[in-house]
Amino acid sequence: MTDTVLVACPQCHTLNRVPHARLVAGPVCGRCREALFTAHPVALSAANFDAHAVRSELPLLVDFWAAWCGPCRTMAPQFEAAAKSLEPQVRLAKVDSDAEPALSARYAIRSIPTLVLIRGGGEVARQSGVMSSADIVRWVQSHR
Ligand code: ZN
Repeated sequence: MTDTVLVACPQCHTLNRVPHARLVAGPVCGRCREALFTAHPVALSAANFDAHAVRSELPLLVDFWAAWCGPCRTMAPQFEAAAKSLEPQVRLAKVDSDAEPALSARYAIRSIPTLVLIRGGGEVARQSGVMSSADIVRWVQSHR
């Protein structure tokens, strides 16, 4: 483990190298000066997904969802709350499975909501169905 970590900016998706000790100190993006952690999930598309899923050195927890999906809407505030607990050790992101069929296909999403925990582009674990924020946090911690 090195003493720095590559983090993709949630605003401009530039990679920033951040010392581990500074992760919790409100680091900002060297390019756009926005906060690297906002305690909110970041909405990702095919254009910026790999910056967070592959090139960032933080684990990425993706919520595959869709606007028409009732259970997805039920879980949305739980996922929001989980972001507050899990950042800055994990990046939380949302992917609209209707708008991003290629990303859904890449991770073989068959039902929503589905959470996929990704590290270095590879799937570490997945869980389908509505979860509480506490369950999301516990589940992620169990796979770290
Ligand atoms: Zn930025």
